[in-house]
Amino acid sequence: MSTLTHHFIDNAWVASRATRCLNVIDPYRETPIAEVTAGDPADVDDAVAAARRALPGWRELSSKRRGAFIDAIAEALEARRAALVELSSRNNGKPRAEADQDLVDAIACYRYYAGQARALDARQGETVDTGEAGLVSRRYQDPVGVAGLITPWNFPLVSSAWKIAPALAAGCTVVFKPSEVTPLPEQALAEIALEIGLPSGVFNLLHGDGRGVGEALTAHPGVDKLSFTGSNAVGEAVMAAAARGTRNVSLELGGKSPILVTADADPELAAELVLAGFCYNAGQMCSATSRLLVHESLADDLHARLDAAIADLVPGDPLDDATTLGPLVNAAQHQRVEAYLATAEAEGLVPTARSRIALPEHGHFIAPRIFRDVPTTSRLWREEIFGPVLCARTVRDDDEAVTLANDSSFGLAATVVAGDKGRAADIAARLQAGNVWCNAHQVAPPALGWGGMKASGIGRELGREGLEAYLETRYVTLPSAD
Ligand code: NAD
Repeated sequence: MSTLTHHFIDNAWVASRATRCLNVIDPYRETPIAEVTAGDPADVDDAVAAARRALPGWRELSSKRRGAFIDAIAEALEARRAALVELSSRNNGKPRAEADQDLVDAIACYRYYAGQARALDARQGETVDTGEAGLVSRRYQDPVGVAGLITPWNFPLVSSAWKIAPALAAGCTVVFKPSEVTPLPEQALAEIALEIGLPSGVFNLLHGDGRGVGEALTAHPGVDKLSFTGSNAVGEAVMAAAARGTRNVSLELGGKSPILVTADADPELAAELVLAGFCYNAGQMCSATSRLLVHESLADDLHARLDAAIADLVPGDPLDDATTLGPLVNAAQHQRVEAYLATAEAEGLVPTARSRIALPEHGHFIAPRIFRDVPTTSRLWREEIFGPVLCARTVRDDDEAVTLANDSSFGLAATVVAGDKGRAADIAARLQAGNVWCNAHQVAPPALGWGGMKASGIGRELGREGLEAYLETRYVTLPSAD
């Protein structure tokens, strides 16, 4: 059993001042596999001081050199891929194939921002055509400064890549706090920083929970930029902390995303996309499409297919290649989803008949549940459950589907399944969501921005917007030469 009692600060392993430790568990075996320090606010002071010292040197480095370091992170992750897949799968409980996809996504993200970094210097001083006679205006971009990055447990190494890669590309230095629930795979990033010779203090990693480290990091006046992914409750606290000092903040929060199936949809494709939308990662996805809006003519057929598909899922050891459904990440998450199922029962909602599959005797498993005709006032319809639970309703036409889809406090993602491509595109144009997939699985390639409207967050990660989030823009206007 490993013990993560040391942070990574200024390219050195530094013992936490905290005496409080937390168990890191294997959610399949329900046994502790490591211990991690809860962290201490004084540790945050040291990490932020290191990041501040490193900032001038890192921002002055050519963006090409920064890009080379980011490429080296991608290479080093690739070299550790098999080991990290296994570690991530054990720590998070996700099936091996899903953990492998995480590594693919993380590596692609570092490579993408290595490219973005290389292009950055060439864009400095671009002329902006203003039409002002006798004047010329130029555009420059500077790093925001020290970035405090906080991530959740559901996509280890991916959520962190979406922040660390653009932050380093922009010339920011980093204090990163991974989730205390899945610290094991993220620890590799500190080892990689040492291995590739990243300058001291450019990347610092603090272990711990919100009380030990998170609150202090968000409140620290030496942190210029906060980027947080996680729950809405904590996201609001982070935003309030950022308000002190009027600091730059990006938030990636929850969702309750819809999947719309029109009358002309291919029912086989619809069943495949609906199942993946609420069962991938055992439903622990901010982008889970957990509200199904299906045309009334197709509903019985689709539900019969879904029940059959659920019965075919293979819950089991995440490291067994046959497994297609892993456990939830821990007891707390298990209890949270069970509480929603109790609410469903109290509300008189009955899951469809065949959605109870046999589960292993241990592990934080939840059998996927589908509830039909869920009232739009139900908590299950409106709140993020973060487990394999689908709420369904039938609709009479596309207008009703769009109205119900948009009737949510969230606006992260959506899927449209339609026979006619033009019809899918028309619906997509009317949806309040940051990403809409039409007749396609959920993808988040690094070149596309990711983020939500309404309570799903503020700002976008990935793509050019993901880099802009770590840059300040400066326009300089001066008399033209002639
Ligand atoms: P969480 O909000 O409890 O924790 C997220 C991170 O914040 C963890 O690292 C945690 O230690 C830290 N934290 C906790 N309290 C803090 C505080 N007061 N100040 C600063 N940091 C604090 O979320 P979680 O349970 O880890 O993750 C699940 C949630 O994350 C879900 O609600 C999900 O929707 C959301 N999520 C959103 C996205 C997205 O892209 N929009 C992606 C993944 C997860």
